[in-house]
Amino acid sequence: MKNIAVYLGSRTPSNPIYAQTAKELGKKIAQEHYGLVYGGANVGTMKVLADASLEHQGTVIGVMPTVLFDKEILHPGLSEVVKVADMHQRKKKMMDLSDGFIALPGGCGTMEEIFEVITWRQIGVHNKPFVFLNIDKFYDGLKLYIDHAHELGFISDKDHAQIHFVSTVEEAINAVTTS
Ligand code: AMP
Repeated sequence: MKNIAVYLGSRTPSNPIYAQTAKELGKKIAQEHYGLVYGGANVGTMKVLADASLEHQGTVIGVMPTVLFDKEILHPGLSEVVKVADMHQRKKKMMDLSDGFIALPGGCGTMEEIFEVITWRQIGVHNKPFVFLNIDKFYDGLKLYIDHAHELGFISDKDHAQIHFVSTVEEAINAVTTS
């Protein structure tokens, strides 16, 4: 089975669109028989995503550093828990376990995780697909930055061509499973 890693917020914004999208994505990943890899937390949109996959008989693997056990609270219903020592190992493990990566809206943790996926692909550590799911124009500002950095020459044509933004759950799953 192919695994999809999803990076997303450990908090829940008041605008319901973010939790709704996390729910839709979790459900669709399970229905299409992909395994879900995520940070293992029982909080925020992370919890909503995991719950939705589990409710639809999906396999959900949580990768949680021991330092976060108290803060984020390990989801009690996961198919598999991978305990790691720290944040660095978490990112490495999530990347190793997964065949593609989706970034839903989130905070600085989400950015750190997806940017490491991008930069590790740029330097050839892996060759796996990734995509930003741009809900409610959340990633418009980030896309402006990426395009600006590309126009100036900070990001190569080749690397820029790998960075995709899509606006639906279906497109996001297709982007990381068909390339
Ligand atoms: P946030 O987007 O800030 O809500 O964080 C989303 C997830 O990223 C949470 O599970 C955070 O614990 C996690 N996170 C934050 N910083 C790091 C990091 N340096 N390495 C790995 N995961 C992180």
